[in-house]
Amino acid sequence: MQIGGAGVLALGIFALDVLSPLQGAVAVLYTTVVLIVAREQVRNWVLAAGCLCSLLAICSYWISHGGEGFEAATVRLAVSLVAIATTSLLCARQITTSAERKSSDERYRAIFNAAGFPIWESDWSLAHEMISRGEAPNIDLVRRAGEAAFIRNANEEAARLFGYANRADLVGGSILRHHTPGGQATQARIFDQLMDGKYPVEEEVQFVTLSGETRDVVLRVTLPPDHDGWKRVLITALDVTQRNRAQLRLAESQAELTHMSRVTTLGQLAASIAHEVNQPLSAIITYARSGKRWLAREAPDAREVEDCLNQIASNGTRAADVISRIRDLARKADPERAAMQLRPLIDETVALLQRDLATNEVALHIRLPEGLPDVSGDRVQLQQVLMNLLLNAQQAMSENAPDRREICIDAAQVDGHVTVDVSDCGIGFGGQDPEALFRPFFTTKQDGMGMGLSICRSIIEQHGGTLTAASNERGGATLRFRLPVVGNVRREAA
Ligand code: ADP
Repeated sequence: MQIGGAGVLALGIFALDVLSPLQGAVAVLYTTVVLIVAREQVRNWVLAAGCLCSLLAICSYWISHGGEGFEAATVRLAVSLVAIATTSLLCARQITTSAERKSSDERYRAIFNAAGFPIWESDWSLAHEMISRGEAPNIDLVRRAGEAAFIRNANEEAARLFGYANRADLVGGSILRHHTPGGQATQARIFDQLMDGKYPVEEEVQFVTLSGETRDVVLRVTLPPDHDGWKRVLITALDVTQRNRAQLRLAESQAELTHMSRVTTLGQLAASIAHEVNQPLSAIITYARSGKRWLAREAPDAREVEDCLNQIASNGTRAADVISRIRDLARKADPERAAMQLRPLIDETVALLQRDLATNEVALHIRLPEGLPDVSGDRVQLQQVLMNLLLNAQQAMSENAPDRREICIDAAQVDGHVTVDVSDCGIGFGGQDPEALFRPFFTTKQDGMGMGLSICRSIIEQHGGTLTAASNERGGATLRFRLPVVGNVRREAA
């Protein structure tokens, strides 16, 4: 239709140019023909229209002024031809550019829809405006700006993430209703980072779906070059709900296992523990009997009786202490971090093992330098580690002659950390890679579970430290754990 009209117009201009007495540059009007054809957005048609119009202009010049030589009409023709050529080329270029943009838009849309993960484009222009005016990006601003924020575009996965049947239900709306209070704080942080130009921003956030289910999502927020004051903010999301739940379950099983292994170790120490408690109890009985005897005398000796009662009280306290230590080890509670000195921690653990070590004729040397800084950790868990290392060391020396059963505990302070070495002169690793010891279920003992060292390593790593094994010069093994000193824990975690 437009092409037909353009043809008629071209003929009209031609007739006007040939027949009219006008001496003006009528041929310039051919540019209108080119512009009309350009509306069809076909590049070749525009170029053809340009050529045709140029030909018509030359023909009409030939008919009206042929053989007149170089005159004003020739200049007018030249001007018209330049105008037609320029218009045609510009239109052709515009058509090429817009075709390229269209295909890139289509590609973008195709990627958007076929991404396979949730992706949406939001308009946060009000938030941008408010922050640009000087408002602080906080939860209140998130709420107010969230009312006006809306989703321009979203794919099907994004709709499913929020619990909608299809993307049309999500597009055009706001996701404010899906925010959790924690999510709003995260959103404020995202605004802040976008404003500082630090994008793409990555944050983990929680959303509530339409059905009220909570989803953990890692958001990646970025601004395309033409975001125009946050009118187009591109957000991709990774649903990590399942991963987080699995991690939680894993942590729970790990805690369960850690507790079980501790109770098993206590079981191994039953004889030693019984002796520990029995000693003060026997002392109590002895002092009670002797107190009675002092009382039964004709002249009861009050001072002796008082002495007996004091002994009874202090032995009672000792027994109670042992029981409370064991109860602590057997109890199942969440780990509690506190600053602690290594010396009492080691002494308490050794007290529980003392009898076992004595029965197996193992000599123990504790060498701690003065002024060791405190470490931060869970007392019970760190005792569990130490207990495991000492028991392993003792078992590794069971075939040694009694005069070659020696365990050394050495501690040192190195670069903001405290290292504790438990060394023995036992069988060593027999050419094995010491790392193998930490593999779950690796054991060379008949009744071993092979979980002790792997649990110890995870405990120490949770404390921001390391646990390693190496051969020592006495042919035995040295197990070393390294813990950050109190002031260093926060920096380690960061
Ligand atoms: P388990 O004691 O039940 O075998 P562990 O994880 O505590 O489990 O130890 C795994 C294995 O590491 C042991 O079976 C032993 O072969 C080896 N091992 C541990 N400590 C030492 C040590 N001090 N010297 C030599 N081998 C050791």
